Amino acid sequence: MWTLIWASPIPQRIRFFLWLVRHERLMTNSNRFARGLIDNPKCRGCLDGDETTLHLLRDCKLASIIWKAILPPSRNASFFSLPIRPWIISNLNTDSTMGENWNTVFAVTTWWLWKWQNKRCFEDPDFCQGQAAAFIKMQARHIIKAFADKSKHDHLPKRYGYGEVLVHWIPPTEN
Ligand SMILES: [Zn+2]
Repeated sequence: MWTLIWASPIPQRIRFFLWLVRHERLMTNSNRFARGLIDNPKCRGCLDGDETTLHLLRDCKLASIIWKAILPPSRNASFFSLPIRPWIISNLNTDSTMGENWNTVFAVTTWWLWKWQNKRCFEDPDFCQGQAAAFIKMQARHIIKAFADKSKHDHLPKRYGYGEVLVHWIPPTEN
């Protein structure tokens, strides 16, 4: 799983974010509640259901509306029913039936759903990103292009400084 996240053509911050997702380490209301930090685990977006990681990133009505606008017609029938780990794995796999670059689009969508939920929590409870699906698709296009440009220039000596700087980092162990 870590290798899959690490190898995905996405910025480092989103890789680390997905690592937190996979380990259920996102500070969702459900996790805050379990730690005794707040007294209500409800979702900050829909106020209907506990804000677990999978609720926030997929099952919340605010999230599912966006997914339905982004998912290709060839989407897996199980997209809205898989548990979190198989959900991440099946969507990051490059042999996904969702089409080319789906792994990037998937990762970018989860990242923005998380960012927007935090905005609602800490800045503006009524925040609603206009044209959310179009915004995400545009963000994903930029990233896909950056990675395509980077691989075009990968044969050049590093001193030309193309692409993002990859800092050596040892991933944390499973536990
Ligand atoms: Zn919700």
